[in-house]
Amino acid sequence: MRKIIAILICMFTLPAHAASVIQDTEIESVIAEIIKPITTVANIPDTQIRIVNDDNFNAFVMGGTDIYIYTGLLTRVRTPNALRAVIAHELGHTIGGHMAQMSARMESEIKRTMMIQALGIGLMLAGGNPSLGAGVMAGASGIARQSMLAFSRDEERVADDMGFDLMVRAGYNPNGFLDVFEQMNDMTAHIESRVNPNAINHPLTSERLKNVRDKLATADIKSKQFKTDSATIVKKYDMVRAKLVGYLDDATRVKTLYPSADKTDAAIYARAIANMRWGNLSGAAVGTRTLVSRNPNNPYFYELLGDLEYRYGHYDDAITAYEHALKLRPNSPQIETALALVLVERAKNDDVDRAAELCRRVILTDPSPVAYWVLARTFGADDGRADWAMAEFYRLQNNREKSREYARRAKSRLKPGTPEYIKSKDILNGEK
Ligand SMILES: [Zn+2]
Repeated sequence: MRKIIAILICMFTLPAHAASVIQDTEIESVIAEIIKPITTVANIPDTQIRIVNDDNFNAFVMGGTDIYIYTGLLTRVRTPNALRAVIAHELGHTIGGHMAQMSARMESEIKRTMMIQALGIGLMLAGGNPSLGAGVMAGASGIARQSMLAFSRDEERVADDMGFDLMVRAGYNPNGFLDVFEQMNDMTAHIESRVNPNAINHPLTSERLKNVRDKLATADIKSKQFKTDSATIVKKYDMVRAKLVGYLDDATRVKTLYPSADKTDAAIYARAIANMRWGNLSGAAVGTRTLVSRNPNNPYFYELLGDLEYRYGHYDDAITAYEHALKLRPNSPQIETALALVLVERAKNDDVDRAAELCRRVILTDPSPVAYWVLARTFGADDGRADWAMAEFYRLQNNREKSREYARRAKSRLKPGTPEYIKSKDILNGEK
């Protein structure tokens, strides 16, 4: 039974251990581009996608504008249009008001315990601070299935129907649902054949598959002209999946999905990242240089080049690569943080000041534990402000005890009334 639960989309779980949410500019911006037509027709344009580091095939909504997608779903759903169908289904739950049963308290509880994780920069820091890269190294965070809420069969059917309509209204072929359900069916068929459909609350995939096949066969749908995804967005989505596999999966899966004979950019990307993770820097370098020369305008390949140069200890080259990436794509918090880290380590001329400025910018727009960790290093160990930054770092990691410990130390070392003193006091008073 556990296996069925694990692979059906739309389950809520109350995490016992913190789940981690991946922040990554490339992944977030590509998904935003893919789902925009759907969130627009659903009239929920401020939908936020949160990527949960968990290998189950799952996605869920909790009533607000956040949609949670698991990395296990992203790496297995092969086309932008199939991903669009998943999101359309989730928006169907939101529009249908299916989460009345979900209390606001539960949603804020889940949010409170979510840890933020970065991929490239997280890996770069894994050596220096194990708590930063632990999640990335482990691959999956393992959200403990402490309590589970599922939608009813009727609600799932309604969400499928509403999602189907959203796809049609946005001008995209609702056969995206077929891809998703066929994939789910492959994973569950051998289990479902032994399950009595009346005994479970959740609809069987076979039932949902039949429902969508019937709808696709109607004359109305068959006569419609749908948009097709451009080769550009298909490739961008391939890169997202390759990146996730490269950072999160084990060697067997990397080699199965992206065997060395595969010379596509996606395969090279996945293998280069995985090689870097495994410490095979020369292998990673060959792939990364191929990607950069084939795609001189892709900022994320320069980001990877920067990560790699940093791993080699080539600070000047790492800084040049990140600066180039930021020229191609300004306002990329993860790249800015990575650049700040290398500047702090190089510490020439005004490097440290520049690093501090970059961290402050990132914290203003997209606060992450890593940015606070690098900011702490810009102050130096003797400065009370470093203690405050570490208090914020642990606060974002949901480590209340350590956060308070550092906030107390910051307060004792800082002058009353300074901004860092006040923020440390807020942490101790529980106002943050
Ligand atoms: Zn659902």
